[in-house]
Parts: sequence; structure tokens; C-alpha cells
Amino acid sequence: MPQTSDVIIIGAGIAGTSVAAGLADQLSVTVLEMEDRPGYHSTGRSAAAWVPSYGPEVIRALTRASGDFLKRPPTEFNDLSFTTPRGEMVLGLPGEEEEIDAYRAIGMRDITGEEARERIPLLRTEAISSILVDETAVDIDVDALHQAYMRTLRKSGGHIICDAAAETISRQNGSWHVSTGKGEFAAPVIVNAAGAWGDEIAKRAGVRPVGLQPKRRSVAVVPMPLETSVDQWPLSINSREAFYFKPQSGKLLVSPADATPVDPHDAWADDMALAEAIDQFQRYVDVEVTRVEHTWGGLRTFAPDGDPVVGFDGAAEGFFWLTGQGGYGIQTAPALSRIAAGLIQGLKIPDDIAATGVSHGQLSPQRFR
Ligand SMILES: Cc1cc2nc3c(=O)[nH]c(=O)nc-3n(C[C@H](O)[C@H](O)[C@H](O)COP(=O)(O)OP(=O)(O)OC[C@H]3O[C@@H](n4cnc5c(N)ncnc54)[C@H](O)[C@@H]3O)c2cc1C
Repeated sequence: MPQTSDVIIIGAGIAGTSVAAGLADQLSVTVLEMEDRPGYHSTGRSAAAWVPSYGPEVIRALTRASGDFLKRPPTEFNDLSFTTPRGEMVLGLPGEEEEIDAYRAIGMRDITGEEARERIPLLRTEAISSILVDETAVDIDVDALHQAYMRTLRKSGGHIICDAAAETISRQNGSWHVSTGKGEFAAPVIVNAAGAWGDEIAKRAGVRPVGLQPKRRSVAVVPMPLETSVDQWPLSINSREAFYFKPQSGKLLVSPADATPVDPHDAWADDMALAEAIDQFQRYVDVEVTRVEHTWGGLRTFAPDGDPVVGFDGAAEGFFWLTGQGGYGIQTAPALSRIAAGLIQGLKIPDDIAATGVSHGQLSPQRFR
């Protein structure tokens, strides 16, 4: 006999655990995770930033709608803020005026080279034609956020079952049946929160894929010379997203901002792209990188139009999509999980999120049908 619940969620990354936490006080919820621990894939590999200027319009609205929760969570959810101040600086090179204007249009502020050097004393401002800032960007404690969602889920009686890859998925007598190495599970509603594997899960369930594309991104952590304190530096990104860097525990995280289309897999870093990124970094910051401490790669998964896919599939009863968060799935998780938990329970998008300009039609999988 299968173990039954009201909702099965596939994937224990930030997407699956956040929607699970939002549902578990009303419904019985089982989260199935193929790895031996939650957060092993994209959620555990992010740059841990909340950057309101980042991404397309829908993402920016979802990011704004998530900011208060991340900065000042309800005390019953977490005692402490999940964020610490960071700030963002956009570096425009000659020829990038169009991109810089787009950042200005969404409210980023120009600063002088001198003001930029107050923030990053080693910045080689002579090579940079425009510098914009947004002081509101913050770092996110991703692990604390993920843990808080899982704690909330468990407090309400929900379960996360690891080493439980959804192998076969079928609809029988009004329920989805999922077979795993840890037994069989059944529920009338299944949530596809499988990140890079989202289309794969759909195929297994006999549901038409939406065209998700995982893209690999590489990151290197480089130690800084003893006399160089980087802790107060802002996250700094080139206006064409050709590279970015941000402080991490006294060192610098440097990324080529690569977005190489790949199949879903356990990703690793592209060493060539990282070498180029470090070279670029040294062109704009007067530091010699002598050593790379460690590297990693992760997958950012996009729908064809770059916006998340959230909602019931029109052609498969009880099959709910929560995928396509791209490079923004942490900073948008509070808003996306509230939207998803509401839609699953037959509610509309919460008014405060709708007020930021997000509509169901922009997120629904039906836009690809
Ligand atoms: C280098 C990098 C930097 C990033 N920086 C940021 C950032 O600064 N800010 C931000 O907001 N976002 C950032 N992101 C994006 C963010 O990490 C993702 O959008 C987010 O983690 C996606 O969460 P998820 O839960 O959908 O995916 P995942 O965390 O990948 O979770 C999906 C889960 O589904 C499981 N799964 C798959 N198939 C099955 C199956 N058959 N059965 C059971 N389980 C299955 C997987 O094992 C996995 O645990 C970054 C991503 C990368 C790679």
C-alpha cells in the first residue's frame, strides 16, 4: 500500500521546502528528495544574494515582494534576520551605455569614481565609464532560510524523505502514485519542484514539458592578501553580466557569470571560464590573485521566457509546477512559495504580491501551451 498524503512535493531545495512549509499547517505534505540531503543541488550552490535590480521585470517584482520577509521574518518563523547589508555596484565599460541606461531606468544611482573607491579602494576606475549603486542589496543566509522552512514543515507534521528519487509517476483513480527506492507514495496533488529536473519529472508523469533549460554557472573563492580587507565591498557586477564578485568570509567569490546550456546533472565549475573571470577581475581591481581556494558549479534553470513557472498544468489534473526560478530562486522564494501554496489551495495571488505587478498569467505553465 502506498503512503498517502494530501500533497507530494518532488525536490527538497528552497522551492520544494518553502512551498511545503506554506502548506503543512493546512494539509499533509510529503517531500521526496533524490539526494541523501536537502539542498544538495542549486540551493546549496548559490551566491546568496538578494539583488533587487537583477533579472527581468517579473523577477524584480517577486524579489521586492520577498524583501521584508527575508530582512524581518516573523519571529515565529525565525528569531533573526536572514540578511546582512551588502549593497550592489554595477560597473559599466565603454560601449555599455544601453545597459547602464536600463539600470538607471529602474532606479540605480550614478556615483563618481571617487565615491566608488570609498567602497572598493582598489577599484581601477580609469577603465570604467559608469558606476551605479543600489545600497539596498543584501546577502542572504541561505542555509538558515532553508533550515527555517524545513523546521516549519516538520513542526506542522510534514516529512522530508531523502534518498527517495521519484522513479515512476502515474495517475491512478484520482491520485498521483510515485514509486521511489523508499517505497510508494500517493496524493491527489503533486508539486514539481525538481529544479533542473523539472521537465524530466513532467515526462515521467506523462505531462508535456514546458521547455526548461538548465544553465551552468561557475564560482571560485579566492583568498585576498592579508592587508586587503574586502568585507565591506559591495557585490559588483558588470552591466552586461560578463563577471561579478562579492565578499565571502574575508575572501572574494568571483564568477564569470557563465550561463552554459547543459542537461540536468551534478554540476561542476568550468575552469577555463573561471580563469578568464579572474583575469577580468584583475583588470578592474588592483589585486593579484595568486591562488584559488575552491570552486563549484551549479545549475540555474530557465523557462523559455525567463520567468518562473508556477501553477497547475491545464492538461494533467493535480500536477503543479514550481520551476524555472533561474538565478533568482532564493531571493524570490518567500513570494513564490506564498503564491504556490495559495494556488494549490484554490486561492488567488496574495494582494500584496499582486500589487508589485505579478499576475497569475505571467507565471502559469499555460503560457507555453
Ligand atoms: C552559482 C549560482 C549562483 C546563484 N546565485 C543566486 C543568488 O545570489 N540569489 C538567488 O536568489 N538565486 C541564486 N541562484 C539560483 C538559485 O540557487 C536557484 O534558483 C534555486 O536554488 C532553485 O531552487 P530549487 O529548489 O528549484 O532547485 P534545487 O535546489 O536544485 O532543488 C531541486 C531538488 O529536486 C531534487 N530532485 C530532482 N529530481 C528528483 C527526483 N526524480 N526525485 C526526487 N528529487 C528530485 C534535486 O535533488 C534537488 O535537491 C544561483 C544559482 C547558482 C548555480
